[in-house]
Amino acid sequence: MAHLPILQFEEKIVETVENNPVVVIIGETGSGKSTQLSQILHRRGFTKSGTIAVTQPRRVAAVSVSRRVAQELGVRLGEEVGYAIRFEDRTSEKTLIKYLTDGVLLRESLSNPELNQYSVIILDEAHERSLNTDILLGLMKRLIKLRASNLKVLITSATLDGEKVSRFFSNCPILNVPGKLFPVEILHSSERPKSYIEAALKMAVDIHAREPEGDVLIFMTGQDDIEKMVSKLEERIQNLEEGSCLDAIILPLHGSLAPEMQVRVFSPPPPNCRRFIVSTNIAETSLTVDGVVYVIDSGYVKQRQYNPSTGMYSLDVVQISKVQANQRAGRAGRTRPGRCYRLYPSMVYEDDFLDATIPEIQRSSLAGSVLYLKSLNLPDINILKFDFLDPPSSESLEDALKQLYLIDAINVDGSVTSLGRIMAELPLEPSLSRTLLEANECGCLSQALTVAAMLSAETTLLLGRSKSTEKKRKNPPSSDLPDGSGWGDHIQLLQIYEIWHQTDYNIDWCKDNYLQVRGMMFVKDVRKQLAQIMQKIAKGSLDVKTSKRWKEGQDYRALRKALCSGYANQLAERMIRHNGYRTVGFKSQVVQVHPSSVLKPDEEGMLPNYVVYHELIATSRPYMRNVCAVEMAWVTPILSKLDNLNVSKLSGGTSLSHEQTQVENSNLPNEDSLATQPSDDHN
Ligand code: ADP
Repeated sequence: MAHLPILQFEEKIVETVENNPVVVIIGETGSGKSTQLSQILHRRGFTKSGTIAVTQPRRVAAVSVSRRVAQELGVRLGEEVGYAIRFEDRTSEKTLIKYLTDGVLLRESLSNPELNQYSVIILDEAHERSLNTDILLGLMKRLIKLRASNLKVLITSATLDGEKVSRFFSNCPILNVPGKLFPVEILHSSERPKSYIEAALKMAVDIHAREPEGDVLIFMTGQDDIEKMVSKLEERIQNLEEGSCLDAIILPLHGSLAPEMQVRVFSPPPPNCRRFIVSTNIAETSLTVDGVVYVIDSGYVKQRQYNPSTGMYSLDVVQISKVQANQRAGRAGRTRPGRCYRLYPSMVYEDDFLDATIPEIQRSSLAGSVLYLKSLNLPDINILKFDFLDPPSSESLEDALKQLYLIDAINVDGSVTSLGRIMAELPLEPSLSRTLLEANECGCLSQALTVAAMLSAETTLLLGRSKSTEKKRKNPPSSDLPDGSGWGDHIQLLQIYEIWHQTDYNIDWCKDNYLQVRGMMFVKDVRKQLAQIMQKIAKGSLDVKTSKRWKEGQDYRALRKALCSGYANQLAERMIRHNGYRTVGFKSQVVQVHPSSVLKPDEEGMLPNYVVYHELIATSRPYMRNVCAVEMAWVTPILSKLDNLNVSKLSGGTSLSHEQTQVENSNLPNEDSLATQPSDDHN
């Protein structure tokens, strides 16, 4: 820790922060920004008047960095140093340094718009340009005007264009912390390999056989690739003919890894041993792994993109940007001169890679963010005039307004409704918040809470969605699991939880049914938290208990009706003489029920006339993932709302079309990408 470059700048940092409300700090990854800045300011008395908040775009980083800082200060995690991520708060009255995801800080500001509990707010990893950090940047601008005398804001970044952020904050000072980076030799492949996994594998084995000691960091795109790579690498290294004078440890690193697995990358290797760390872009800047001398860069990243005209998400494997490529290479030169093997020709880097990654705000659905900004209800904040570092496209703002109108979060004139205000407070996406509120009215809140909790934890449940895990199973996980009784996936999720509840949360039952125990326990906890929030919001006693008996033959009408209100903007109508659907509300397009869905045609080969879906995903073709059958009578009011929709009124009569950047819709990904989360595992 003593050698971290940032520590030499302590005096300069403290002096600049004391004299300025906002400071931008640019420092190479690993220079100590995330772990040391908060400690420096704490040492120098900034926690006397409040807590220091440090935001992180990724949950993993918030947990891992706070753990480290607690360790360095010799305190118990959750006491003086703690973290808060969605559905998990490890802070206490004593907490002076709080690491939190940017989304959690945004939500906190709804109940406390001036964020008075904080004396310092550090927006860390701003170069990631996550949607929430971008919104926080705008919000901070306002906050420092309100709290000029008692708030300090620091914006830190590894690569960010410091001048641009400084201009955004009235030319605030920029501090550069020069990193101690050793030279990194960059070697390009002469052509793009057919399989980047195979090429990376060969490269890793070659390094192990020929090169002197030093860890190898391999950048893959997602969990599936990583799992494949880890098992193949283990096999090849064991069978290495020439052998190596070093032992090998192979470690995966991605956002869905259990915390105890994640921390393994921070323990130094035993003597005479080389570590291979196979990671997503999480090791690019979020987590610094020491000891890396060789980097193998596939040149790809898995990125989630949203197309506002179709309402469709795609999880694409796309080329990284030049900035990302340079960050990846830099990981090789932290402890001594290193080498980066790029699995692409230098021409591809020069001609095809974008200079910088497209900010998330320009490739996401903005419904949640727009609802949030509108709920702040501040006279000087108007979503259309909101000060963005890079503005979103007018099309995505229109899309967000339309979605919010359809789920009753805003009125026809664009003003936020009382329902919308409550929705913004719930730590869920607007569609699920709306479902819970409607369910409360329809008397099925308990069931809706279960569905919302199951959907929030879905990626850790393992419900046969990952192809590589699928292959490992001898039997498909269908035998004992309910099938949604013909109503679809939401109902199946409910039934699964209810049966588990009946077994008294039996761990063996989860294992027998190929459900991750950790995932199910998380669902139970999330459900409890959501129930508490709903109790608070409704200010009364609600029936949130899980029903004791799971009954056959229910039609789940109330719950499906609630889901229909929540997903009014995600509705599809079956096409006549066809088992496909067309989406309603967006530019109409033909979509199919995803093959993993439990919703199957009935004995006559028919599917329900109307369904709502949780997500529209483009893989080999457009698919609806997680669907629920709904009834015509509930759909009619939505259709008439759509008929009377006037987007210009929704935006308060203001034209949205000013000069703004449009995000290009990128090409279709391979089937594999569906199986895992995007590699940028944001909160
Ligand atoms: P920056 O934010 O500038 O990228 P960090 O403060 O994250 O730098 O990292 C500084 C050092 O602390 C690195 O050497 C890193 O390996 C180490 N470090 C960070 N988190 C942990 C952790 N959870 N356990 C052990 N070491 C850690």
